[in-house]
Amino acid sequence: MDRPLVAILSGAGISTDSGIPDYRGPNGLWRKDPEAEKLVTYEYYMGDPEIRRRSWQMRRKNRTLKAEPNAAHRAVAELERSGVPVRVITQNVDGLHQLAGMPARKVLELHGTARSFVCTRCHTRGRMEDALARVEAGEDDPPCLNCGGILKSATVMFGERLDPVVLGEALAITKACQIFVAVGSSLQVQPAAGLAGVAADHGARLVIVNAEPTPYDDRADDVVREPIGTALPALLRALVPADGQA
Ligand SMILES: [Zn+2]
Repeated sequence: MDRPLVAILSGAGISTDSGIPDYRGPNGLWRKDPEAEKLVTYEYYMGDPEIRRRSWQMRRKNRTLKAEPNAAHRAVAELERSGVPVRVITQNVDGLHQLAGMPARKVLELHGTARSFVCTRCHTRGRMEDALARVEAGEDDPPCLNCGGILKSATVMFGERLDPVVLGEALAITKACQIFVAVGSSLQVQPAAGLAGVAADHGARLVIVNAEPTPYDDRADDVVREPIGTALPALLRALVPADGQA
């Protein structure tokens, strides 16, 4: 039998053990704080230099770039290294799956990445650390060194559309996989929520690992409520072929 393709859909809950709070979920920090939400809303960001100045200060203080992968991220990477075909679809922008060892080409970042900046005019990208170094050196709102355009984090802000290419790949993987594990996602925000339904519609085994109930629990083959840091490694170890030739 062919080895099953495993799709892992990860949300904020997989990174809380790494010290990263839920920012953008329905109960996330940004949704509870209208002033903070403005800093990550495209229209305000592009229209107001003061919003950009505060946004850069927020990025400078954000600990996401210093966070380390936890046991759950490592378990996903270990599953991939064991020879099981694994693809990660993540709502997170922290890059921790890749830091844990997942090859970047096997990670789809639905909401982009906080580890890069991008120019809103010429689309030049670079390392966020380099942009933050300019802020540290005194630039309130560092412009693009290529064209002078406004720089932003390479994350999808509120009011921006998700990358249709990334979304298309996520949908294709969801339809093709045999096992779909949703971990640390409330499954209340599109497109993540819809993907869980698509996976079930296409006959995948749907496993949900989340502390709180989700709207898809009744469609799942397994629902796991235990802490992700212990539950996910155990669950994924059970998928590794024992005889080495599955
Ligand atoms: Zn530019």
